[in-house]
Order: sequence, then structure tokens, then C-alpha cells
Amino acid sequence: MANENKRDYYEVLGLEKNASESDIKRAYRKLAAQYHPDVNHEADAEAKFKEINEANEVLSDPDKRSRYDQFGFAGVDPNFGAGAGGAGNPFGGGFGDFGFGDIFSTIFGGGPSASSRRNPNAPTRGEDVSARVEVSFEEAAFGTQKEISYSRIESCDQCHGSGAEPGTQVQTCPTCGGRGTVRIQQNFMGMMMQSDAACDQCRGTGKLIRNPCSRCKGKGKLRRNTRNTVKFPAGIDDGQTLRVREGGSAGSNGGPSGDLMVTVRVRPHPVFTRQGQSIYCEMPISFTQAALGAELEVPTLEGKVRYTISEGTQTGTTFRLKGKGIPYVGSKNRGDEFVTVVVETPTKLSREQKELLRKLEEDSATTQPKRKKFLDRFK
Ligand SMILES: [Zn+2]
Ligand SMILES: [Zn+2]
Repeated sequence: MANENKRDYYEVLGLEKNASESDIKRAYRKLAAQYHPDVNHEADAEAKFKEINEANEVLSDPDKRSRYDQFGFAGVDPNFGAGAGGAGNPFGGGFGDFGFGDIFSTIFGGGPSASSRRNPNAPTRGEDVSARVEVSFEEAAFGTQKEISYSRIESCDQCHGSGAEPGTQVQTCPTCGGRGTVRIQQNFMGMMMQSDAACDQCRGTGKLIRNPCSRCKGKGKLRRNTRNTVKFPAGIDDGQTLRVREGGSAGSNGGPSGDLMVTVRVRPHPVFTRQGQSIYCEMPISFTQAALGAELEVPTLEGKVRYTISEGTQTGTTFRLKGKGIPYVGSKNRGDEFVTVVVETPTKLSREQKELLRKLEEDSATTQPKRKKFLDRFK
């Protein structure tokens, strides 16, 4: 090789010797995109592209870069001159030939070339399908079953997924031998560069269907509406997603179906709110009930229960009903219910009722010590 005419790697990428790693990356991406032979059809584009890649391969590798900085080309290329070690290459490395696919994925981060080169006959898992379902507060608490309608890709029942009209055959593509890809070789500066491209004849499928199935038009698959009865465990919460194994779209070449992912929306309850496995409710009580104590009928998810509040219960007092909350999923244990009593101040009082309350107010120093204490602080 005409090594002696090689341009300095920094010069190739238009960089200074002290360029940072990100400078190198940026310069490389810009130039590689500019001179990629798929894009640039000028006569010297391929040679430039190769030169850019070679420079990048060395400068983007800290180890190779420091050898290059110290020894020049001889530090990174065993074939270069006699400089640093003659026949026994002390540094290893050098450049193999590289395919376009590899370079492309370095520049663009994977992308279509990676998937198009996959074996088209390999078993592939089907896509997951998402669905939503709305359940009541109680259904979420105690579990339920719902029939869910959704659409997914299914194997065609006329051709059983082959894509060929019944009674006809699917042929293996003679051009690519069923691989779906063909190897392209190109000559750059005396080096053979190889790359894989999708086969034109079978469009990358590896198969030829002369008589496509009339139902699926040769695809072997159809989008269909389906129904699935899904069991929701007791305790499931708003926003949670249930996975139904293989309830999704059909796979290819014997691969498994994807899953059905059902996201639950829990309708709000008129009385209760929920946080985790706890439920909360605010219960209005009368001034008299609060003052004298009372036996309350408290709502729970399973009907009313009796609960006695003591004399002199303050507004905002919260009491706990153990085990009256939401079950933990997959467990017999349950959260608790928290009831906060709120005193409803009486309105629309009659004259007599007002009289009674005024009497009560005369003794307020003893009946309402908290208020007295508060006022005393201001004296
Ligand atoms: Zn079909
Ligand atoms: Zn083919």
C-alpha cells in the first residue's frame, strides 16, 4: 500500500492535535455522512470515506491514538514502513476490512440495516397489544372478570400463515437461497468491502409466493377483532397493567404470540378515596352527636357497620376500621379504612334552638377550654 502518501489522521478529520473525544466524534459523523458512498457519488468519495473511517478508528480509540501520537502510522499499522518494530508487530491491531453495515450503525446507531439483515426465517415473537378497561371501585377492591374486545394480528386461517393459496406451494427464493439478503462486494483502493443488502427478488423474505392467499393477500396474517376474558385480582389499582401471556399478536415462523397488556382504570367512588390499600372517607356528624357521643352507622365497602364515638369528639377526628380497606393483591390481608368525622355547624335554627345555644355559650369557659386558653394568650 502507498502508505507514504497517507494524510495525517488529524488532517483527514480537520482537527487539531489536542482535539477532544467529542470533537473527534462530531467531525467523524459529519464527514462520514458527507462522503458515504450511498449519498455521495463523486469519483473520490469512496476513497475519502475509507480514509475518514481509518482516521476515526485510530483517533476514537484512546490507546491507538496515543500510539499514533507517539509513533505515527507505524504505531498503529503493522504494514507501515519498518519504523517501530519491523516484522514482529509490537502493537497489534491494524485494519481489517469492514462492511458498510458496521460503519452505518456506528454513524446512525443501528437502524434499518440491523433488522433487514436478520434471518427472515427465524422464529419471531409477535407484538404486544395494549388494551384499557374500566372497573368500579368495588371491582378493583374485590376482583372481577371482564370480557375485553381488542384487535390483534392473527395467523391467516385460510393459508395457515404460509401466505400461499391453499393447494399451492411457497418457494424458497433462488436468488438469496432463502436468506433474504445478498452479499455485495465493492472494491475500495484495492480492498474488498462487503455488505449485505435485502434481496430484490423476494424483498428480504427469502420466500416466493406465486399464488398469494386470497384472504390475506400473501401476508400470512390478518388483523382481527377478538375477545378475551380477563381476571382482575382483588386489590388491583388505577393505572396498573395486567399481562395476559400470549394474548397479543401472532408470532412468525413458529415464534410465540406477544402478550395482551390490559391497563386498568378505576372509576372514582362517591364516598371513598383510595391510597394504596387504605381507603378514606369523610363523614359529617351533628354538633350534638359530637358533644354527647353517639353510635354512628359508618359506610364500608361491604355495607354499614356501627361505630361509637365518645362524648366530646372533636371535628376532624379520624378513627380507623382495621381490615376494612383494600386487599393486598394475592394475599388475604387487607388495608384499613380511615373515617374522619366533620362536625356540621347547625344552620336555619328556630328561636328556641338559638336560646338553648346561648345558654350553652354562657358556660363556655368550662365547656370549651381550648378556646379559653387561646384567648388567654392574647391578654
Ligand atoms: Zn392467507
Ligand atoms: Zn431472495
